[in-house]
Amino acid sequence: GREWALISRPVGWPKPEDFELREAPVEAPAAGQVLVKNLYLSVDPYMRGRMSAAKSYVAPYELGKAMQGGAVGVVIASNDEGVAVGDHVLHFFGWREYATFDAKQAVKVDPDAAPLSTYLGVLGMTGLTAYAGLLRTLSFKEGDSVFVSGAAGAVGSQVGQIAKLKGASRVIGSAGSDEKVKLLLEEYGFDAAFNYKTGEVHSLLKEAAPDGIDTYFDNVGGEHLEAAIGRLNRDGRIAICGAISVYNTTEPAPGPRNLARLIQTRGRIEGFLVGDHYDLQPQFVQEVGAWIRSGELKYRETFVDGIENNLEAFMGVLRGDNTGKMIVKL
Ligand code: NDP
Repeated sequence: GREWALISRPVGWPKPEDFELREAPVEAPAAGQVLVKNLYLSVDPYMRGRMSAAKSYVAPYELGKAMQGGAVGVVIASNDEGVAVGDHVLHFFGWREYATFDAKQAVKVDPDAAPLSTYLGVLGMTGLTAYAGLLRTLSFKEGDSVFVSGAAGAVGSQVGQIAKLKGASRVIGSAGSDEKVKLLLEEYGFDAAFNYKTGEVHSLLKEAAPDGIDTYFDNVGGEHLEAAIGRLNRDGRIAICGAISVYNTTEPAPGPRNLARLIQTRGRIEGFLVGDHYDLQPQFVQEVGAWIRSGELKYRETFVDGIENNLEAFMGVLRGDNTGKMIVKL
């Protein structure tokens, strides 16, 4: 089977030369292990961080080794009594066609309950990120107005819709194309949305949120974050989920110049990691699963075919090629 390895650490935007697609042996499972044929691979913005050497909440990818990432596959050989051939599993050995690993690192998923790809997106890590960040970190409550950036992406599209379903007074989104803005307004029920590439974020946000914002779910950092601080209402909250606008910069990004506005607004900014919120998983799956089945909560997926296009799919996420969750289909 083929796998992607990182062979040099990218500086700035990753380049094809930093990676290698190579043939790797398909290993028979040892005692307690399974062999999985991957069907869907996740590509996520946080992977850019793992390509750098800097220590973070997950270890850097090791040079010369296969990269990792969320994946869903089917068990084709098992040496563990808890997992059977034919079972579908969610696991962390993506960026490759076949993976052999300990059965305890696999979580069984049901292909009849939901499409397999959704366990990587709306019913998986990105969905829980939206749910936990909005309800727990932002302490969202009925009547709050919500601004979310990256609003047509995997996390952002769920933040805006969950806020609407839970009684937000106004949901405002920003995204990088007119087509995405149209989707937010016409399909996802956002009250206002703008294409951040068409002007200065501060002015675009002011127009979209004439009464200011009570909460901001930040997926992008940079100019958006400063604009949100500038529009924050009394007792406003900001959740720092991601900062994709600075993931490929080679110089430290300038901080928001208006932090002192948090004094007059009694504002709060708090970062969070989805990994700390898996206690919410059962509640999340029940509530969000029901909204998806009823059609109240919508989602998109952007599929890229083939292991050979795994890197391009990842680059596409950084560029904004995706609407909703970006998935590699094998
Ligand atoms: P998305 O599906 O939102 O894809 C990333 C999107 O970012 C692109 O589609 C693009 O859309 C947008 N983007 C790229 N460059 C810029 C830029 N310079 N300014 C503004 N937007 C940009 O990814 P996810 O939903 O998976 O992740 C969203 C964010 O959440 C990321 O920052 C990620 O790192 C973070 N995250 C954090 C987690 C946590 O535990 N804290 C867990 C999961 C994700 P567009 O066309 O609109 O530019």
